Amino acid sequence: MSNKTRLGKSDLWVNPIGLGANAVGGHNLYPNLDEEAGKEVVRTAVANGLNFIDTAFIYGPKRSEELIGEVLKEIGKRDELVIATKGAHKFNEQGDVSIDNSPAFLRDSVESSLKRLQTDYIDLFYIHFPDDSTPKDEAVGELKKLKDEGKIRAIGVSNFSIDQLKEANKDGHVDVLQSHYNLFKRDAEQDLLPYTAEQNISFIPYFPLASGLLAGKYNSETRFNDLRAQDPLFAGEAFQHNLEKVEKLRPIARAKGVEIAHIVLAWYLTRDSIDAIIPGAKRSDQVLDNLKTLDVQLTPQEIEQINHIFV
Ligand code: NAP
Repeated sequence: MSNKTRLGKSDLWVNPIGLGANAVGGHNLYPNLDEEAGKEVVRTAVANGLNFIDTAFIYGPKRSEELIGEVLKEIGKRDELVIATKGAHKFNEQGDVSIDNSPAFLRDSVESSLKRLQTDYIDLFYIHFPDDSTPKDEAVGELKKLKDEGKIRAIGVSNFSIDQLKEANKDGHVDVLQSHYNLFKRDAEQDLLPYTAEQNISFIPYFPLASGLLAGKYNSETRFNDLRAQDPLFAGEAFQHNLEKVEKLRPIARAKGVEIAHIVLAWYLTRDSIDAIIPGAKRSDQVLDNLKTLDVQLTPQEIEQINHIFV
């Protein structure tokens, strides 16, 4: 087991390589997911020292939390694991979804996630998306109460702008920010990353592999039948251009005897306030593969070279 790293100022210590579990039961995100394969991904992760698992109410919806709950019950080891989940999506009777950050809804969300995860506490609970009306410090204030009650151990927010994050963190209670960030999408470097570094908030990037594009395994013939079919990164000329950039990483990976994905994941861990990453995995071999990242040491020159390719 690798050395664990602390998430910001929280009491949570994690393997810097976590498991993004939106493909575990995330039937509303990926077609034809096999639930048993998803549970096996979680078992493989835990058996190999990944102790940080990232899920959300909306993955499924509910199903990702439920499957993780089943595996947690089966394997025990609860105190060795750091389970992160998220809430804010609200379905009405017609099945329409909206975002709700009201204290009452967040409290209900925590209670129902606890049941699905079959656990007494959630290590890290995030407000998944900001709503338009709830003051963010009030929303986080409710999570602080839940923390004081022992129902959650740390407070996260996700998809917040810098202003929303500052408002949420007025009383200094935010432990983790989860935001879209990868080598193709670096706007967080302008404002969010400097703020999280200054405030000792852990920044967890999501889509670290740009949904697989940064793993270096696609070529111009690759076609997609899931959400990637609508993603501009995967469309037309931009896709070709992006593939060329990714190919520029191959010599660095080859010289170290690893794959491009490992170089990319290792690069994030060199950034200030990025304490851990949560690459998604659909199969157990991807979990094992992503762990090889921990063996990669990038030199300052390589870090800069990668920076330059994706500027
Ligand atoms: P990602 O990590 O950028 O990409 C994951 C995909 O890359 C996998 O599904 C797999 O796709 C491929 N892959 C993974 N490991 C690989 C390897 N070693 N070699 C080659 N390919 C590999 O994207 P993501 O899974 O969507 O995001 C990561 C996590 O972030 C999610 O699981 C979720 O927990 C979280 N997330 C949060 C939010 C939010 O709003 N807070 C939004 C999105 C995601 P294929 O096998 O199909 O190629």
